[in-house]
Amino acid sequence: MSQLICLQDCDNKIGHILSKKKEGPLKIKRLEDELGIIEKEHQEELDRFEALKKSGRDIDRETQDLDVKIERSKIRLSNIKSNKEYRAILKEIDDLEKAKFQREEKSLQIMEEIEVLRKRCQDNEKELAEGRKKLDREKNEVQTELNALDEELRLFEEKKALFSQTVEQDLLKNYLLLKERKQGQAISPVSQAVCQVCHMRIPPQMYNELIRGDSLLSCTNCGRMIYWADDEYYKKVLEKI
Ligand SMILES: [Zn+2]
Repeated sequence: MSQLICLQDCDNKIGHILSKKKEGPLKIKRLEDELGIIEKEHQEELDRFEALKKSGRDIDRETQDLDVKIERSKIRLSNIKSNKEYRAILKEIDDLEKAKFQREEKSLQIMEEIEVLRKRCQDNEKELAEGRKKLDREKNEVQTELNALDEELRLFEEKKALFSQTVEQDLLKNYLLLKERKQGQAISPVSQAVCQVCHMRIPPQMYNELIRGDSLLSCTNCGRMIYWADDEYYKKVLEKI
């Protein structure tokens, strides 16, 4: 039984190490996802920044075109004889000036937006650089942890193989079967007459039998193989693993 208890302990530790091995990569995945979102937002803002710069240039070109038109109209104005035509060209110039003013207003507005966006893009880049540094650090830490866990895993696998060899083969078969049916926990310690896995009380007579320790017993409730955990002998066995 003591070999089986050790085997169960190894299996539990191996299970624990395996689930711990998943934590680090999950953390990295989360950080990468977070960084991916920031990168995507940053790219969108960069695109908007470029688009704004382009529309700024377009508007400036339109303003220049309007300037040329205004100049031309002014030249025509000096050669006009009829009053009616004169007024028409004055109106034309006035309209062109208004259109130019609108473009200038718009241009100013775009310049302000560009400045806000430029600042935001700079902040994003800083945040991204920090995020990437943090990710690298975490990756290193996780790798170190994974290496340590692999080493620990190797040790317990070795011990497990050793205990599997020394345990009686029929008992081992029984253990493996039970382990599969009982979510990995085939053996249960009994303390103060209570099964420590299912928390049900063991009948007094059976408990006495368990303390005597000359037969293999199972919990009447959960069916797991039980041992008397308050026994100093088993305590020492478990300490040694
Ligand atoms: Zn039980």
